[in-house]
Amino acid sequence: MQKNKKYQGRLVVVAAPSGAGKGTLLKHVREQLPNIAMTVSATTRKPRPGERHGVEYYFYTSEAFDRLIAEDALVEWAHVHGQRYGTLKSELDRVLVGDNIVIFELDVQGMRRIRAMYPDMISVFIAPPSMEELKQRLILRGTNAAEDVVLRTKNAEKEMEAQHEFDHIVVNDEVERASHELMVIICDS
Ligand code: 5GP
Repeated sequence: MQKNKKYQGRLVVVAAPSGAGKGTLLKHVREQLPNIAMTVSATTRKPRPGERHGVEYYFYTSEAFDRLIAEDALVEWAHVHGQRYGTLKSELDRVLVGDNIVIFELDVQGMRRIRAMYPDMISVFIAPPSMEELKQRLILRGTNAAEDVVLRTKNAEKEMEAQHEFDHIVVNDEVERASHELMVIICDS
């Protein structure tokens, strides 16, 4: 594979603090737009109930993730919430075909890395209506242990500080409205 695989189609990076509702908004958008392709990231995080290897993520042990790094199999990777997450080169090869709109769900570090490789990409930050609401959503979601909720809330404050680096900010105050706004950005930018 070339170091920077060329792509004529549209690349979109979507980032958000944990609990901002990025997954829900993207699910709505994918239901409306047929030609969206998304990369499946590699992670050392343990699967949540119902998550499957190769669908939500490729789940790896820390040792296996070390090997991916040593083999230069990742285009970017970052420490997020005490775990490691990264984009596999093989995933880029899979999605960068035809006229797909390619969406990457990354953290801020990943966004910077992909932007350096593909300066024409579009970046969107999904923000919660307030930090209090974000914390409530994380607790209600119930998929994270209490100490993880504390860590994710703390990290959210840092991530919110980076929102000015993005081309667009979508406030997820109401799912229908926000997903429509996100869809318009993805289609028309
Ligand atoms: P979660 O554990 O809630 O699924 O995801 C935690 C965070 O990791 C999210 O903010 C998500 O965007 C980020 N993330 C997921 N995949 C990647 C990736 O491939 N690279 C980077 N840099 N961050 C990722």
